[in-house]
Amino acid sequence: MSVVGFDFGNESCIVAVARQRGIDVVLNDESKRETPAIVCFGEKQRFIGTAGAASSMMNPKNSISQIKRLIGRQFSDPELQRDIKSLPFNVTEGPDGYPLIHARYLGEMRTFTPTQVLGMVFSNLKSIAEQNLKAAVVDCCIGIPVYFTELQRRAVLDAATIAGLHPLRLIHETTATALAYGIYKTDLPENDQLNVAFVDIGHASMQVCIAGFKKGQLKILAHSFDRSLGGRDFDEVLFHHFSAKFKEEYKIDVSQNARACLRLRAACEKLKKVLSANPEAPLNIECLMDEKDVRGFIKREEFEQISAPILQCVKAPLEKALADAGLAVGDVHMVEVVGSASRIPSILKILTEFFGKEPRRTMNASECVGRGCALQCAILSPTFKVREFQVNESFPFPISLSWKGSVPDAQNGGAEQEQLVFPKGNPIPSVKAVTFHKTSTFSVDVQYSDVSDLQAPAKISTYTIGPFPTLRSEKPKLKVKVRLNLHGIVSVDSATLLEEEEVEVPVSKELAKEDAKMETDEKPNDTSAPGANETDVNMQDAKGTAEAAGVENGVPQSGDKPVQMETDTKVEAPKKKVKKTNVPVAELVYGAMLSGDLQKAVEKEFEMALQDRVMEETKDKKNAVEAYVYDMRNKLCDKYHDFVTASDKEELMAKLQETEDWLYEDGEDETKGVYIAKLEELKKQGDPIEERYKEYSERGTIIDQLAYCI
Ligand code: ATP
Ligand code: MG
Repeated sequence: MSVVGFDFGNESCIVAVARQRGIDVVLNDESKRETPAIVCFGEKQRFIGTAGAASSMMNPKNSISQIKRLIGRQFSDPELQRDIKSLPFNVTEGPDGYPLIHARYLGEMRTFTPTQVLGMVFSNLKSIAEQNLKAAVVDCCIGIPVYFTELQRRAVLDAATIAGLHPLRLIHETTATALAYGIYKTDLPENDQLNVAFVDIGHASMQVCIAGFKKGQLKILAHSFDRSLGGRDFDEVLFHHFSAKFKEEYKIDVSQNARACLRLRAACEKLKKVLSANPEAPLNIECLMDEKDVRGFIKREEFEQISAPILQCVKAPLEKALADAGLAVGDVHMVEVVGSASRIPSILKILTEFFGKEPRRTMNASECVGRGCALQCAILSPTFKVREFQVNESFPFPISLSWKGSVPDAQNGGAEQEQLVFPKGNPIPSVKAVTFHKTSTFSVDVQYSDVSDLQAPAKISTYTIGPFPTLRSEKPKLKVKVRLNLHGIVSVDSATLLEEEEVEVPVSKELAKEDAKMETDEKPNDTSAPGANETDVNMQDAKGTAEAAGVENGVPQSGDKPVQMETDTKVEAPKKKVKKTNVPVAELVYGAMLSGDLQKAVEKEFEMALQDRVMEETKDKKNAVEAYVYDMRNKLCDKYHDFVTASDKEELMAKLQETEDWLYEDGEDETKGVYIAKLEELKKQGDPIEERYKEYSERGTIIDQLAYCI
């Protein structure tokens, strides 16, 4: 079983694997530790990752990047609208209201969903891990931003399925960082709590988490974020600064030229990095547009001035995290910064001022998320032994159930009613049981109770519960289990009809046993003991079976007497008997991929991957023909010289020349089979010569050896 962690960034991705001796970040096919999150569509195949980045300048309109910004978001989302403005490829609204990416692939325009493209990125990361481990990779942990909505989380899981991966957990990036930080610490206090703030500033967003560490565990005290504050905003400021300058000085408008935009943005990013280490930096681009070479220059001070509006936003998430954790600045013992954009000196200055202490960089800023993901995977994997370390995660959004009252009454008559199920900060995973009194099929919506932190519609999903028979009782009780799973995805898991028999019947031994069995059967799903939440968030539980039941009484009761959050329903045996019947639950998640579509996407990915492989193999075979031509030609004139007749040599040399010409003309673009046949044809003539030579040299070696023995 594979133990792998993936950090898919907006810009670049990290693949980390667990080995017995520890966690390794593995190298991709270009021997780099970071792999660009890019898919470039070509005329014959796709180029993904490093290959994608290499082709993106040549083919900007078909190079899809920033996928993390596009998944699971509606096209009308203002943030998405802002994001797509600076993208070189075309994104339109699909019939379902979600974005569609357009790219020219295999000679025609095609559309892909962001989830599909993320699936391609995952496939690439998967193959990097597989090449390294020399084994199939399926089980993994994937890092996600804490602000990902239900739909975005589901999209990541779908993309993983498309790539043939099975995530044991989607883990919040900052939590992965905290885990990578804490698990190796041997000096964590037994009784006290060490509070550490982790600040991650990546390409497009900023995330903060405050974690409390004790020996053998960490507890997330607060999460906060700014979805739109990251390194790219600084690139954008520089980009606008220089495009205005060049308009004035060189009379060129880069916004009119996709390639010029791309090149200027890339140059600005480079410039920004230079400014992190130097007080000033130049910017020179040859032939940017209209055959004009441009030159620019900026001082760090000026850069800081023009990026003041962005820098001003850094403080808000810090304040929010402190407030949510209920801590004063002085209670934070350490600050760790990660994410590559945190290298900007003015950001560090703000952090230092805010916390009253210098942030530390003990973590590897670009690799810690990936490493944390691999560690989490190792903890969850039964095949791996890891140091005992508990991760007590907290969910960043409050979730409630809402439904329509079925029995009209004076106050609530059929009105929408809402019940908070998972408050903000609820442990992950968790299960709560909610009891309804309903007489026929009804539906419940799962929704965010507060969308002020979110750019998403409040309503997440609708569950239709029923039908169920209501023969015995007038007010049947329905126990509905709502689960917040390890990925931070909420769903109604099951519904059970509970019918108490009114008459007190002496319970036979057989029946008593039966009831008791039902209870034990349910036990793993119904931990109702006080403090259940503590045990529930035991991350060692890969399947997320540890759960919590709500322990809330005195919940407002409305006209329909709909909800009572229960610890559990205990059987009052032996005198009363409760009959439990499973009730069907139908799920509708707004905007999520339907299982049929997912299956189709899996097949499509398989087809595209096959095409890529065929093209790669074709290239290999073509290279083999070319290599043979050069190699044989050299050898014929050199070491094979004495092993071939003049006429055979002449004939083969002519054939080699003919093949070389063919490779550059008619044979430039042939199929794999043609190249294989061509190589065989050459070898038919070349092999006998090679054999004669080999035979001779082997004989020579034997004679040498004999001579040595004597
Ligand atoms: P995200 O976390 O937003 O999904 P990511 O994980 O790909 O994206 P990182 O790799 O952490 O992001 O950071 C990338 C950003 O850091 C880019 O904007 C890049 O320009 C910036 N960056 C990298 N090195 C430096 C540096 N030396 N100085 C300033 N910025 C830098
Ligand atoms: Mg990141």
